[in-house]
Amino acid sequence: MISKEFMESICRLLGSDNVLVGNDTAGFVSDWRDRYHGRALCVARPGTTDEVAQLLALCSQHGVRVVPQGGNTGLCGAATPDGTGEQLVVWLGRMNRIREFSETDASVTLEAGCVLEAVQNYASDRGYFFPMSLGAEGSCQIGGNLATNAGGTAVLRYGPMRDLVLGLEVVLPNGAIYDWLTPLRKNTTGYDLKQLFVGAEGTLGIITAATLKVFPAPKVRELAMVTLEGVEQALTLLTQLRRSLGERLLSFEIINWAQVDLVLKHTQGNQWPFAEPAPWCLLIEVTETLDGYDLRGALENELGRALEMALITDAVVATSQVQQNNLWRLRHSVSEANKIAGYGVTHDTAVPLSKQGEFATQVEERLLSEFPDGRVLMVGHIGDGNLHVIHMLDRDAYSPERLAVAAKRIHQIVDQATLNLGGTVSAEHGIGQSNKGRLLASRSAQDLDLMKAIKAVIDPDGRMNPGKIFD
Ligand code: FAD
Repeated sequence: MISKEFMESICRLLGSDNVLVGNDTAGFVSDWRDRYHGRALCVARPGTTDEVAQLLALCSQHGVRVVPQGGNTGLCGAATPDGTGEQLVVWLGRMNRIREFSETDASVTLEAGCVLEAVQNYASDRGYFFPMSLGAEGSCQIGGNLATNAGGTAVLRYGPMRDLVLGLEVVLPNGAIYDWLTPLRKNTTGYDLKQLFVGAEGTLGIITAATLKVFPAPKVRELAMVTLEGVEQALTLLTQLRRSLGERLLSFEIINWAQVDLVLKHTQGNQWPFAEPAPWCLLIEVTETLDGYDLRGALENELGRALEMALITDAVVATSQVQQNNLWRLRHSVSEANKIAGYGVTHDTAVPLSKQGEFATQVEERLLSEFPDGRVLMVGHIGDGNLHVIHMLDRDAYSPERLAVAAKRIHQIVDQATLNLGGTVSAEHGIGQSNKGRLLASRSAQDLDLMKAIKAVIDPDGRMNPGKIFD
């Protein structure tokens, strides 16, 4: 039972406007996909690192369990409290200040509640580029991106959040502040503690600030969409483009027709830029920082060669920013369309790049043979080996019990293929609540024991985001 004294203490600390209770917590207790629903003791909105530290110290004294939350756009129920009404949601959105920008260090130090898109714009206004980009960038926060080790559409060139972070400031469950903020590029002084918190999904502590890498802004960006017959052709094209365009290649994203079709049906303002449907399409984005380099010419040459070799069947290169935005919108509308279309049993698989063709063929065949009423959607960051398979079922045709049984079997089919091909069940979304039962498909029991031992040292009472990643 949480004491009245605890609630009074946090109201004194944060001001009662920053402690939401009752109906005001509604936007914070369900996940983006609307699959997990909990209740919160209250939602605390600290505005500084000191407030986070004092808040967590109070939680420690009173034995209160804590769920950190950023933009609440995560896709595996990791930011949703349980149903007890005794967990405290800590929302970081008020901590949205940029603390320092340094051109020489090519870094920006900022608070965890900064919205990703605002960080991209901040860098761009100064002639720099922050490459993390994903469909939820208008609302997800840097703290959430770090806690999930987010990937997105520029991993091929710049890596996931783990590669973009130089320093971190975190508050541990006992309220201790650890300041590892630094623009240092090299530091070999024992364990890299900050990386423990990247991808930890809020189970070790709260990230309050970070120093991130920024890069010179590209002078030119070109975007093409091409159609093709299959994943193997896409991989041959990727190998070719990596050789010829090298570091200019920023994004290489694939979508199958079943997925395009759902986007066109269920979202506004999307158009298919070709005369005919095609089994697959790719979005290819290239950038260049040199003035005067004919990037479009280089891309068109490569695509011409790919057409001659019959690797692709058609291509459009966007000729304006509006066209570029339209093509990207089609890709970024996928999650929104799938939320409306039915019950998608989703996967965040990565396999070695070379195994993706085999993976796609195997899972499609097996899924359709056991669940012929579903549609196999495939979309993802094929340049990173990360192909999302979504088996879309008709929500109305399944009782909740039948849906649960079907989802379990569908995961088994996809995970079996993933394992056989040396892959992982989560490339970028994380484990949260949705994928807990599948963690052992990717990590050994020995790994799990070590993770739990680390958790026990940092969070001995198990109060940080309980029930996420493992029980
Ligand atoms: P939340 O959902 O609020 O939280 C996610 C996890 O991080 C939870 O465990 C939470 O406890 C923890 N957390 C949040 N803030 C902190 C903090 N300050 N300290 C400690 N822990 C914290 N993801 C990708 O990787 N690639 C994609 O391409 C991609 N596309 C998406 C497209 C759409 C349309 C949507 C809705 C989501 C997409 N996602 C994608 C998933 C999601 O946007 C990312 O996981 C994002 O990084 C989550 O950030 P958030 O601020 O919303 O975190």
